[in-house]
Amino acid sequence: MEIRDRLGKHSTAPRVMVVEDEASLSLLLAYNLESEGYQVESVDRGDEAELKLKESPPDLVILDWMLPGVSGFEICRRLRSREATRSLPIIMLTARGEESERIRGLSVGADDYVVKPFSVPELMARVRALLRRSRPERVANVLLQGDITLDRETKRVHRAGREIHLGPTEFRLLEYLIEKPGRVFSRAQLLDTVWGMSAEIDERTVDVHIGRLRKALSRGRERDPLRTVRGSGYSFDETFGKS
Ligand code: CA
Repeated sequence: MEIRDRLGKHSTAPRVMVVEDEASLSLLLAYNLESEGYQVESVDRGDEAELKLKESPPDLVILDWMLPGVSGFEICRRLRSREATRSLPIIMLTARGEESERIRGLSVGADDYVVKPFSVPELMARVRALLRRSRPERVANVLLQGDITLDRETKRVHRAGREIHLGPTEFRLLEYLIEKPGRVFSRAQLLDTVWGMSAEIDERTVDVHIGRLRKALSRGRERDPLRTVRGSGYSFDETFGKS
């Protein structure tokens, strides 16, 4: 499978293996990973995952802690003990209440650790972050729309060559919106992704930060790249820079 990233380079889509025995979660992850352009292989047993990981290691593994066959903990330990998979990026999933296991998970070498229930966009962000570290050539770091560029690595935003200074929340808002131009996100979705699912924040907070982002992005008569969709939410205008 070939994808074309935003820099226009051809690259092969990174392969992600999802090892999870909860069918609904496994499907949800596969769906979201595929829509971000990854190739996904789903496995629901630990022993089966072991075999597949030996045969052809993917670029990243999302590994559930409790699995039939062999536990995620054990798989992780074994992956780390083999030369071929010593630095394979691993994200461990665990149920709430197993947080004490976190230390064990990290001690056997998982790169990241996510407690269920988690926010899917947040997990996607972690997948991206890990792949960026291990396979920087495979993930687009610079998002470009019209005269706006956003560099995920340096966290810098430029418009028409000048640097735009954004607070961390405004940066994440823009990063999220600019990734999917034209798509309308509700305030609740933005809160969930940008602030995190556990945040108990009034939805009007989103309006405040969108307001700040707008103010920072546009100077004088420059066109506003953000669109307010009444009754729905916000989107990055897909026609921005094209007319
Ligand atoms: Ca499980």
